[in-house]
Amino acid sequence: MNLDNSYARLPESFHASVEPDAAATPSMLAWNNDLAVELGLDSLAEDQGELARIFSGASRPAGMQPIALAYAGHQFGHFVPQLGDGRAALLGEVVTDAGKRYDIQLKGSGRTPYSRGGDGKSWLGPVLREYIVSEAMHHLGIPTTRALAAVATGDSVYRETVLPGAILTRIAASHLRVGTFEYFAARRNRDAVKKLTEYAIDRHYPEAMSDEAPYVAFFRRVVERQAELVAHWMAIGFIHGVMNTDNTSISGETLDYGPAAYMDEFQFKKVFSSIDQHGRYAFANQPPIAQWNLARLAESLLLICDAQKDFEAILSEFPSYYDSCYLNLMRAKLGLTEPQEGDHQLILSWLKHLHENALDYTLSFRELATRIDASDPPRFGEFEQRWRRRVGNQATEPVEALDLMNSVNPIFIPRNHRIEQAIREAVAGDLTVFKALNVVLAQPFSEQPEYAEYAAAPEPNECVTQTFCGT
Ligand code: AMP
Ligand code: MG
Repeated sequence: MNLDNSYARLPESFHASVEPDAAATPSMLAWNNDLAVELGLDSLAEDQGELARIFSGASRPAGMQPIALAYAGHQFGHFVPQLGDGRAALLGEVVTDAGKRYDIQLKGSGRTPYSRGGDGKSWLGPVLREYIVSEAMHHLGIPTTRALAAVATGDSVYRETVLPGAILTRIAASHLRVGTFEYFAARRNRDAVKKLTEYAIDRHYPEAMSDEAPYVAFFRRVVERQAELVAHWMAIGFIHGVMNTDNTSISGETLDYGPAAYMDEFQFKKVFSSIDQHGRYAFANQPPIAQWNLARLAESLLLICDAQKDFEAILSEFPSYYDSCYLNLMRAKLGLTEPQEGDHQLILSWLKHLHENALDYTLSFRELATRIDASDPPRFGEFEQRWRRRVGNQATEPVEALDLMNSVNPIFIPRNHRIEQAIREAVAGDLTVFKALNVVLAQPFSEQPEYAEYAAAPEPNECVTQTFCGT
């Protein structure tokens, strides 16, 4: 493992050295071989025992320098000046043959100087959940952190009950967050904000450096990436659930899958997270919340550059930029191969139809595609007739619209009831459902008849109504 440690070379106030706990009897639950190949780490799997020791923190190959990162964050609108990796250890960075740099981070490897009251551990549930959901996100074509490994530690973790401990290895383009900037800005540490910004530019947006106003160019790029990301979430029916600024990544990846969930029945104001009592992070609120989070980044950057007007202008363009990203994604989902006036209203009336009839978001798009040439009574009411006229008005053949729809509308999403089933059975020692889910979700757009049950919406008695934060 040839690791670099560029973040560890930043000043001491940016991080703290940590010593991951040695797991009692580490054993592999999952190893993402495709990702390992991309990272040039696949040969590690030749020794399964050593693999489990490395990715539980028990073994430390040369060059590895585990650190926990300092950050702050606005949580549910309230500023917390001191958060940081309370249960995570950044082992180092790999640089791929293609020259891309990725963080390798253990989640659940024990206490750090930022743990506050927490034990720094994770039980099996959140580890398997993040593994499934982040990999599914990747295969859906949405920017995200990824899961390289899941290891059972053999230790017990104490929550409401005694649970089996586990560690996830998360791969990220970086773990820089809006909250990292806020951490230093809150301390009025101009030098640190400057170093952090230059580090972020160098790592993610090197083209900004040659702009006449690099910090403004950097901010614009972060805003664009967030708008693109949230547009993807909204198009796929994903609810992040805890869009605090400490979970808002500078690279534009989906970060932190605590209470995250994909919607079954469509509802504009859907909330899953048990702690989101006022629906701040409800489905439909995600775009304005992203904009709000980006305003916190702008405030932090004001410490090092006098660009309030530019930042305000960029922020005010967020809604229209977001709308155009979302519109493009939704046009494809509805088979609209060429943009027309009124598409926005058509999309909205589709969503209203889904909402009013409590239809499954994912399956409805696939079913709509089958209606493209239908002559029997519509299944999606007045909308369906309107939509068919609209699709019929295009220069392209209906079959092209159909192909487009089926290439962007998944059959398989990580449904909450399946994730919970996978966790329940894994706790009882059976990884069959967990493994099947990973296989199925690696090809979300393809028919996989042998796995048809994973495409189905939950029965009323299977519906998951709440998800839970953290570990
Ligand atoms: P999150 O819900 O992942 O965004 O976590 C918010 C903050 O709580 C971060 O600083 C985490 O590191 C910290 N945290 C969450 N769970 C634990 C835990 N089990 N032990 C220590 N810190 C934790
Ligand atoms: Mg977090």
